[in-house]
Amino acid sequence: MRVSRFAQTCCCGFVAVTTVVAAEGCDRSAADASAARATEATRTPRPIRVLIHSGLKGLRVRADRGGDILDASTQQTLLTLSPRTWAPLACGESGVWTIAGREFSADDLLIRSSSADPIWALTATDPDDSVPLRLPGRVWLDGGDGGAALINELDLEEYVACVAAREVRADFHAEAFAAQTILCRTFALCQMRARETQRYDVIASEGSQVYAGLDDGPAGRKAREAALRTRGLVCVAARDGREDIFPTYYSAACGGASQSAWEFVPSEKVQPLRGLVTCDYCRIAPEGVYRWGPVEVDETAVREALVRRYPELPALGRLKSVEVRSRTELGRPLSLVLTDEAGRSANVLAEHLRLAVGSRLMRSTDCQIRLDGHLLRFDAGQGFGHGLGLCQWGMQGQALSGHKAADILRYYFPESSLVRAY
Ligand SMILES: [Zn+2]
Repeated sequence: MRVSRFAQTCCCGFVAVTTVVAAEGCDRSAADASAARATEATRTPRPIRVLIHSGLKGLRVRADRGGDILDASTQQTLLTLSPRTWAPLACGESGVWTIAGREFSADDLLIRSSSADPIWALTATDPDDSVPLRLPGRVWLDGGDGGAALINELDLEEYVACVAAREVRADFHAEAFAAQTILCRTFALCQMRARETQRYDVIASEGSQVYAGLDDGPAGRKAREAALRTRGLVCVAARDGREDIFPTYYSAACGGASQSAWEFVPSEKVQPLRGLVTCDYCRIAPEGVYRWGPVEVDETAVREALVRRYPELPALGRLKSVEVRSRTELGRPLSLVLTDEAGRSANVLAEHLRLAVGSRLMRSTDCQIRLDGHLLRFDAGQGFGHGLGLCQWGMQGQALSGHKAADILRYYFPESSLVRAY
């Protein structure tokens, strides 16, 4: 994909703040908080570009009522998709594609449905191997010698509903869904702004927010209702003398208090990300979320996982010790020193260790870490996730206690408010 392709058609990532508003039942207190703020022109945000997969050698696509596969540069139709028929595509070297058995040369492909129906995409070679994604909007395939990148370009509000459906459980309270959609929207707009000239804005996994296309299940329905109800609402806070959006981090459960994002993202030194917000609402989380451990992991597996994820780390042999080098204000391990039997050592952020080990095992950095023979042992764990920003189980706990979405957001992001951006 040429960057200019998108740059020609989009407005800027954001989206001026307009006025504080009260969506029914959602942000009454936001409306109380302040009168209309200084405004810039209201602008509908451009579509968001989500990287679904990269390095794809092949995939299948389908459109219920048919569609086209086009050369994205020339807009020439390479293949007409028959209704409800999978078309196989393979990405070869040097811009050569094989589409339904015929070869074409093109940098990038555009897959278009002939109706408003989504495009179905199946990235496994065997249709039985995977669940197809239903992708609304437009679908691009960016060619490359390492394989194709599958990018879905869709309406931001649609994206917000899809993501909220994946990021919270279907049985969460309607106010929790409302708060979640505002979180998702604000976070996405921050990423869109930061990546304006890049070929995509967000990735479809936890690295950004989890996106897997349309969801017609109970969570999808609740998320769509919530997105509609909170349409355009974003979290803002004072920065450099004006109100601005900020990255609305969230994680499953803080375990007692939120971490300060200032230690991790110094460029985002806005008051709502100061952290240290106490929370015991997340006590309602299922077992293994609010408190967890002990968990044991083989130290060899930990070393291998670290090097796979962070190849710049020095290779270590069998570990002799793991020590906490520094802690956050609230006492969570922040950085660690891993030393092997040959005396070589590596400094590792505790959060990087968590991501390498896997969040299902090391659920948060708020735990005791000890080397016990060939096992790395995590004990007395508190919370699930990075602990920055909003606590999702706390959000659910507060919603069940009668708190409204706007109040919940302001609780976890002090000195923030809600405005309607478009
Ligand atoms: Zn919490």
